Amino acid sequence: MLTAKEHEVLNPFEVAQAQLDEAAEMLGLDPATHELLRWPLRELHVTLPVKMDDGSTRVFHGFRVQYNDARGPTKGGIRFHPDETIDTVRALAAWMTWKCAVVDIPLGGGKGGVICDPREMSQAELERLSRAYIRQVGRIIGLEKDVPAPDVYTNPQIMAWMMDEYAFQKGFNEFGVITGKPLPLGGSAGRGDATARGGIYTLREAGKVLGMELQGATAAIQGYGNAGSFAHKLGVELLGLKVVAVSDSRGGIYNPDGLDYEAVLDHKRKTRSVVGFPGAQEITNEELLELEVDVLFPSALENVITAENAGRIKAKIVAELANGPTTPEADKILFEKGVYVIPDFLCNAGGVTVSYFEMVQNAYDYYWDEDMVHQRLDKKMTAAFHAVHKMAQDNNVHNRLAAYMVAVARVAEAMQLRGWV
Ligand code: GLU
Repeated sequence: MLTAKEHEVLNPFEVAQAQLDEAAEMLGLDPATHELLRWPLRELHVTLPVKMDDGSTRVFHGFRVQYNDARGPTKGGIRFHPDETIDTVRALAAWMTWKCAVVDIPLGGGKGGVICDPREMSQAELERLSRAYIRQVGRIIGLEKDVPAPDVYTNPQIMAWMMDEYAFQKGFNEFGVITGKPLPLGGSAGRGDATARGGIYTLREAGKVLGMELQGATAAIQGYGNAGSFAHKLGVELLGLKVVAVSDSRGGIYNPDGLDYEAVLDHKRKTRSVVGFPGAQEITNEELLELEVDVLFPSALENVITAENAGRIKAKIVAELANGPTTPEADKILFEKGVYVIPDFLCNAGGVTVSYFEMVQNAYDYYWDEDMVHQRLDKKMTAAFHAVHKMAQDNNVHNRLAAYMVAVARVAEAMQLRGWV
């Protein structure tokens, strides 16, 4: 017998389209506007020959999708992942469009990806791959066209190589072509932890509207990359959460008395995984999602909360730092159970918000201090949270649908004003 999970549509782009369809119906969008928003405006498929350390040449495949630029240049990260597909990148590019609109920054949505496994590549191979990607994609990006950034398994060093390669193509430095750069190369203060910080701000606001005390509340974090590890740090520092479980692609650890951030990070630095952390019980990623905790942070990849396991989620709040962790079927189940979901493109919009601040600072070549970044980020995240919460309350819909309604209405209005539809 097929399980519920096997029946469900799990292609991320079909999921993204289905989510949009629901919002379009609620908003009463005209058919042309709706159809235009269902597809990327442009996409580029690239093939990349890269010299490997052993002297051989490997050929990699990559993509850049420019989903919609009605509100401004397209913006979104580049992901290096062995399971990357064009449909994943399309979905992520669509979600970037809604993300930039929901926090009301003047950017559209885009995304890039390369099929590769950076965990099995040397730094020199990664540098050659990053440069090869820009040699192809450089022709369609630019600070007024499309601005990449880090995503899963890419980081500030990779952004530096890409920015450098682009500078050679142009013949001059154009720092604003890419964000999430290291500080000495036009990076912004506060960009490193911005995704998690923005998510923590929305969680703080959710605590207020729900009348829920977050000081001492328990939390589990699935994924320990940039978003997940900083959610551990900032969840404790800013809200007083007690983080009892964390995981990465190799497995999870659980300690009901709480896990110390510095100690877990140190263990991960030394062993490349959280697994084996002394004094904690080992659990699987699946078990972590179903723990009896107040807050669950899915902070890794898509489709981890599905029709199959949604009924067993016990968290009161799901704060989605990952892109696309919850399927549409699971959304319905969580909503009926009364789980408060802070949807991905709201919860994790802090990263692109500070990327936008980085672009602004690059453009006028004057840099803000960290306090200024935090203050401005807080203002954006708090406003976006309340716009979505209000939309959900007014229409009695779940938060993801409400976030779509806020974002899609803004993009649709821009397209109509431009005369596209
Ligand atoms: N990759 C991040 C995201 O999914 C950041 C994108 C950006 O800063 O442009 O939101």
